[in-house]
Amino acid sequence: MTELNQTALHRTVGNMEIDTLVVGAGQAGVAVSEHLTKLGVPHLVLEKNRIAEAWRTGRWDSLVANGPAWHDRFPGMEFDIDPDAFAPKETVAAYFEAYAKQFNAPIRTGVEVKKVTRNADRPGFTVETSEGTIVANRVVSATGPFQRPVIPAIAPKDEGLYQIHSAAYFNPQQLPEGAVLVVGAGSSGVQIADELMRAGKQVYLSVGAHDRPPRSYRNRDFCWWLGVLGLWDAEEVQPGREHVTIAVSGARGGETIDFRRLANEGMTLVGLTQSFQDGKVSFRDDLVANLKAGDENYLGLLDAADAYIARNGLDLPEEPEARRVYPDAECIRNPIRELDLAAAGITSIIWATGYAVDFSWLQVDAFDDKGKPKHQRGVSREPGVYFVGLPWLSRRGSSFIWGVWHDAKHVAGHIATQRQYLEYRDAGQRQSDASVPVQKAASWE
Ligand SMILES: Cc1cc2nc3c(=O)[nH]c(=O)nc-3n(C[C@H](O)[C@H](O)[C@H](O)COP(=O)(O)OP(=O)(O)OC[C@H]3O[C@@H](n4cnc5c(N)ncnc54)[C@H](O)[C@@H]3O)c2cc1C
Repeated sequence: MTELNQTALHRTVGNMEIDTLVVGAGQAGVAVSEHLTKLGVPHLVLEKNRIAEAWRTGRWDSLVANGPAWHDRFPGMEFDIDPDAFAPKETVAAYFEAYAKQFNAPIRTGVEVKKVTRNADRPGFTVETSEGTIVANRVVSATGPFQRPVIPAIAPKDEGLYQIHSAAYFNPQQLPEGAVLVVGAGSSGVQIADELMRAGKQVYLSVGAHDRPPRSYRNRDFCWWLGVLGLWDAEEVQPGREHVTIAVSGARGGETIDFRRLANEGMTLVGLTQSFQDGKVSFRDDLVANLKAGDENYLGLLDAADAYIARNGLDLPEEPEARRVYPDAECIRNPIRELDLAAAGITSIIWATGYAVDFSWLQVDAFDDKGKPKHQRGVSREPGVYFVGLPWLSRRGSSFIWGVWHDAKHVAGHIATQRQYLEYRDAGQRQSDASVPVQKAASWE
């Protein structure tokens, strides 16, 4: 840590001046801090809760990482578990805490950034925090890709129903007796639905458009396949695929999400949830099409993997059973279009419907008219403002553990380069500087 960072940490936050302020100490903030530290950029990270808080209190109890430990990590440290295992959420949080400690990251926890505004009469920004005001030349937002749980407006107002977002789900015991409708079948929705079914609940799962890569194929995890096939590096969402979620799971050692298998095991699959009226919920007639598109995505990856193996002459065992298709259960043969909640015994709804970002604290000209950050690889159009950790910041991997580290490197590099420009002195300035060190040297002695 630079001397300035050390000083910054031990002073109270109020009335401080700092070169670069990083807001948020999840994995994104820790990664930015590591790169800034390496580049000698004085900085401070403010975190309103604890390091990696989302991995502690923002996830359900049984959650494990979706990627194996060899993949879902930063380059500078390995997990202290089997590299092919899936780290439990607390282990992930502890990993980032240890990682930050490894390079003495200048993180202050328990301090919330409430408002950032550009200074009118001097460079940089005024930052109002829960512990006073800071002036910073640059501000990096690392406040997370998933900040505000989103429950669609169609949610019924019925007070008799227990309704929560997946962010507020922790374990099956918190739900009242009765059946449950889980809306959304991305990684969160399908894992929660599976856990509830295993706990003995009657589960209805509303399935929208999704990708469902194989957990592993021919002895390689899907993270490996997405890597070698260049799919993590896709730079933007293909048009029309903005609402396609990815259904993967590391639960119980990791297994492929197969909706047909879940249906055979007793889960009732339904199409996209459309509306609620008079105690009844209606579903779009798209279940079969969504499952078919998911299967195509799955089989497409197997085909691409086979082609990659053949092209590169790899010696990986064949796995024909990966193409096995489960028979269609009744809910797929005759999809339910309307369900009477009371008659079906549904007492809970879990909305696994995603998140939005919240930049209400960042009051600068860095957003489009829909409130979306305008940036190039995290460098905002508002000079001095940066974003890290957003979905698709530079590519598909951006909001994931390994991807954010590389985006953070780019952002920190940009900051260091800007500082170098500002340090430039023209010939006249250099000449006048030349006289100063003599006096300075004298005063140091
Ligand atoms: C259920 C779930 C499972 C996931 N599993 C995986 C996985 O297995 N592998 C993977 O690679 N990715 C996974 N992700 C995606 C991603 O890795 C996580 O969402 C991760 O937490 C994002 O890290 P982050 O640092 O960008 O944001 P966060 O972890 O959300 O960190 C942001 C931090 O900023 C702080 N903050 C926010 N506002 C302020 C403020 N105004 N002032 C001060 N502090 C502030 C917050 O307290 C928070 O600690 C998962 C996501 C979810 C939702």
